[in-house]
Amino acid sequence: MIRPTLQISRDQFRTNIAAVERRIAPSALMLVMKDDAYGHGLGWAVEEAADAGVTWFGGYDIRTALRIRRLLVGSQRVLAWATSTDEEIAEALLHDIDLGIGTSEYLRRVIAQAQSLGRRAHVHLKIDTGLRRNGVLPTEWDGFVAEARAAEGAGTLEVVGVWSHLAEASDPEDDEAQQVFLAAVDAVRRAGSSPELLHLTASAASWWRPELRGSLSRVGAFCYGIRSADGPELDGIRPIATLSVPVVHVDDGDAVIAIGSFDGLPSTLAGIEVGTPAGLRLLREVDATTSIVAGWPGMQPGDQVRVLGPGDQGEQSATTLAERIGTVGEEILTRLTPRVRRTIV
Ligand SMILES: *Cc1c(COP(=O)(O)O)cnc(C)c1O
Repeated sequence: MIRPTLQISRDQFRTNIAAVERRIAPSALMLVMKDDAYGHGLGWAVEEAADAGVTWFGGYDIRTALRIRRLLVGSQRVLAWATSTDEEIAEALLHDIDLGIGTSEYLRRVIAQAQSLGRRAHVHLKIDTGLRRNGVLPTEWDGFVAEARAAEGAGTLEVVGVWSHLAEASDPEDDEAQQVFLAAVDAVRRAGSSPELLHLTASAASWWRPELRGSLSRVGAFCYGIRSADGPELDGIRPIATLSVPVVHVDDGDAVIAIGSFDGLPSTLAGIEVGTPAGLRLLREVDATTSIVAGWPGMQPGDQVRVLGPGDQGEQSATTLAERIGTVGEEILTRLTPRVRRTIV
């Protein structure tokens, strides 16, 4: 069966991680791995990152965090921040997963599970700094912190971190969010906890806004080489994945390639240019299971067309393609279905 391939470079992944770590130091990297490592596949990525010395992994949900934990052999830390069921909370506590907590209701359930297991939960309290997406409002913060502190006193919980997520809509808004964040950290300290881990920034703000970085930076996109849509190129960072698609047949001067919208390639990408052995050519059409590329002299079945990648054959990055259709690079990569074979090189 002829299938498209997402070829992924371990070396480039390590290069990107190193570039991010250099850039954000002394803030430590938490490598974010949601959505199956942004569509690149979780297993190899966890192993490679651990081998490169990454000490913090961000799983988004507990299920992903547990998969990461199973792949690790050392004492690296793993954080899951999506609100979850009691069963999953218990699993997380048994496997030393740190929990991000953004509602009082979730806090109470985590405390109850920790109590019944006789475990101490490691929690990162989340303040809502304006994004309105899972996080305790400043008006409710003191009460929330008092509950966490009481559980800390009782030995069922340890407040190891305080965190939030920035809207990244504008610098002034992010500055304001930081003020709300720092006031929340103060309140936690006044209540008697000593959280060491303060984290506010994801890829873009970690890279471009050093004054907003905490002791940890939660970075996903840039480690995979996905720059921000409408953002500049990044020094030392390149896409780690190349979407390489074989020509299945030649039809009236066009090359028919083995990928279509059912494989997750947005049909709205028709009109972009893709990398062929003879340079850039127009992607004329995206159909259900195949697509049509303007041909080149000597083309034959088996030739590889690069739809996206770091640019070695002229192909454009996922973000550059995403900008053409009003989305972000992550969206294009995470939508590629499992029929797109992931090959790690
Ligand atoms: C996805 C996510 C990140 C990572 O964002 P990137 O822009 O990919 O670096 C960080 N924090 C939270 C809460 C996230 O959901």
